[in-house]
Amino acid sequence: MGIRTGKEYLDGLRDDRDIWINGDRIEDVTKHPAVCRGAHTLGEFLDRQHNLKYQDKITYLDEDGDRCATSFLIPKSEKDVQRRGASFYEWASWSAGMFGRTPDYKNASVMSFAAANAFLGKGETNFSENMVNFYNEIRKGDKVLTHTLVNPQKNFDLAKQGKFTDEVALHVVKETDTGIIVKGARLLATLGPTADEIEVFPSTLLKASPDNIPFAFAFAIPIATKGLKMICRDPYDHGKSNFDAPLSSRFEEMDAVVVFDNVLVPWERVFMYRDPLQCNVSFAETNAVVHMMHQVVCGKLAKAEFFVGLLCAMAKSTNRDKDMGTKGMIAEAMWIAESQRAMLFAGENQAHEDKWGNFVPLRRPLDTARNTMPRNYPRLLELVQLLGSSSLMATPCELDFSNAIADDVEQYFQVANLDAKDRVALFRLAHDAAVSGFAGRQCLYERFFFGPPAIMAAGYFDIYPKDEMIAKVETMLD
Ligand SMILES: Cc1cc2nc3c(=O)[nH]c(=O)nc-3n(C[C@H](O)[C@H](O)[C@H](O)COP(=O)(O)OP(=O)(O)OC[C@H]3O[C@@H](n4cnc5c(N)ncnc54)[C@H](O)[C@@H]3O)c2cc1C
Repeated sequence: MGIRTGKEYLDGLRDDRDIWINGDRIEDVTKHPAVCRGAHTLGEFLDRQHNLKYQDKITYLDEDGDRCATSFLIPKSEKDVQRRGASFYEWASWSAGMFGRTPDYKNASVMSFAAANAFLGKGETNFSENMVNFYNEIRKGDKVLTHTLVNPQKNFDLAKQGKFTDEVALHVVKETDTGIIVKGARLLATLGPTADEIEVFPSTLLKASPDNIPFAFAFAIPIATKGLKMICRDPYDHGKSNFDAPLSSRFEEMDAVVVFDNVLVPWERVFMYRDPLQCNVSFAETNAVVHMMHQVVCGKLAKAEFFVGLLCAMAKSTNRDKDMGTKGMIAEAMWIAESQRAMLFAGENQAHEDKWGNFVPLRRPLDTARNTMPRNYPRLLELVQLLGSSSLMATPCELDFSNAIADDVEQYFQVANLDAKDRVALFRLAHDAAVSGFAGRQCLYERFFFGPPAIMAAGYFDIYPKDEMIAKVETMLD
């Protein structure tokens, strides 16, 4: 047991999962045009775990001699934290951060909960052993997870108070000897249709009142569980060639709303239950949120670096990179990338032991990065649009280089430093990164995937050491 090949992953997706796209139920996600190329991309990434060029960085040998993904490694030193970071960054660099939901994101969370499993024995229930067993099953089986944390809202007034309605929100309807039966919906499962399992963890904010007990739980089940259905958004892979759509033809990871129609969750897959307070603090107390931030900041660094490279290549193509105003525009993207790098460095190099005996990166720099990137990402897209301008529309397709207009295309699309085909390839890449439907979804993803920005910002405020700063002001007043 241990790391899987891409083929093993793809074979595992051929089950009776209930996935709906564009009005139809998908028969085989590994063949359906909306999601199959994304799944095959992930399969190729999993294959790299077997490639000696990457293996030392992205895998480790466990105590049984099984080779597992580094994202499962429980960090027991600052070096382990850095090793995990190098692996996160490597994975992200393969897609320039565009495949946001590579499995290492969820692995970071599963690792954290298992490594702090005593926390799951502190509430009304004791599910520590379930979590450790789940971690080992997922780690040794190299399973790909998605997750869903947020209940759909029917009425914002209710959501604001941390309350839910069982008309739409996922809730427990019954307990049986074998498990709990849940009904309702959750959003949003990125990678859901092509994952092996789904983690359904506590919602963003639960008022710690008895009313919320039916909504307070954490569990994980296979995607192909009876009664579980995924309703997907419109796909952004439109079947174009890699030349015509370099990103969306490879990195469509799909998002889906998940519907649970009286789904049985076996007790051995329940990790928290009937304790809203425990649910609310679980990500913070186990440090899962920090380990997930670590993966995220590594990925965002790879993504920001890609945008710097893209802007520089665009400017260089016409010698515009000698222009002072252009340099200033691109410098802004460089600041965004370098801020990510600095915050990652600060987080990793101030790693410390937590109360569970695990090493964890320093939260504040990573938390700063995860709160600022959602605001900076739209600016990166804007910079590509401002620099690319009409060149982002001067994009004949791959076929136009071999059909009756090929001579015109070769002649009129050349620029100082690139022939027509290379210029069109570059600006098609820029288009897919900053203008296409795929780009729009990436932007929405960056704004929201880690949670509601206002809640994340308020949480940041709450734990910031404000008293030190206030004391400085008081000293000045004195
Ligand atoms: C492309 C994309 C991919 C995503 N992928 C995933 C994924 O894989 N897994 C996942 O779980 N989520 C995912 N998300 C969902 C993301 O977590 C939510 O979109 C985000 O949390 C915002 O939630 P919301 O849209 O429900 O709206 P919001 O209005 O922000 O509300 C979210 C919840 O926050 C609380 N809330 C909102 N406002 C307040 C307030 N003023 N005071 C107190 N509480 C408040 C409520 O409990 C409410 O239900 C994804 C989102 C996008 C756009």
